[in-house]
Amino acid sequence: MKKLVIGNWKMTLLRRDAVELATRLAVMDGFASENAARVVICPPAIWLCDVAAIIEKTPLALGAQDVSPVDSGPCTGDVSATMLADAGVTYVLVGHSERRGNHNEDNALVRAKALAAQKKGLVPVICIGESAQDRADNRQQEIVAAQLAGSVPESGPYILAYEPVWAIGTGKTATLDDISAMHAFIRGWLVPNRSGGQGEDTSLAPAGGKTVDPQAQACILYGGSVKTDNAKGILSLPDVGGVLVGGASLDADAFQAIACAVQ
Ligand code: PEP
Repeated sequence: MKKLVIGNWKMTLLRRDAVELATRLAVMDGFASENAARVVICPPAIWLCDVAAIIEKTPLALGAQDVSPVDSGPCTGDVSATMLADAGVTYVLVGHSERRGNHNEDNALVRAKALAAQKKGLVPVICIGESAQDRADNRQQEIVAAQLAGSVPESGPYILAYEPVWAIGTGKTATLDDISAMHAFIRGWLVPNRSGGQGEDTSLAPAGGKTVDPQAQACILYGGSVKTDNAKGILSLPDVGGVLVGGASLDADAFQAIACAVQ
């Protein structure tokens, strides 16, 4: 199964800069190579249409950073899954720790967003991960299990992104042993608790009639200070389906190097 590399541009880049970065990525050869990961870029919502036009005929796919749990109506400021799909989006992050933390998003809301995305043919990338305090208290598995139980829909397609909060944007990466242990724990949790996991029927298509990327089935990403110098080690772990990259995805050369660090 091809690994997946997702770039989260967060709330950075003015239009000119987003267009410039997307244009650089669009002309890079590496992403088309057989060994490269499948690559998704998630610009700020306001630049999605600009970026969609630039990457349309490239191997790059478009992702959004958030989605409304509601599909239309009086939800000022929200962007619906239908609107995202109309803009060319195929993946959407839900439950990123910055949204859970800054906007008090709880597991029930994250799950509602994941379901709203699935319903319109988008693949939700559901982010989970413990805080530094949780890990210091050795409660990381308990916290992640609660997030899985509350945020993950009963069936796929979905992608999970394990992102320890203390590793995001800090330069502190989880050790390979800690990543392996948590990914094995998550996979072990999914097997009895959710369908849409590894080995499940990958033809499962959500309402909306679109064919969903089979790579989306039980793919568990790692995120948290992934850089060019640690990507290869992380991506070589058997339980790691790919990486979610924040800061390093803003540098076209670094991002390409990460996407091509896959064996
Ligand atoms: C992220 O934004 O999800 C992330 C992992 O950021 P960074 O790579 O900068 O730690």
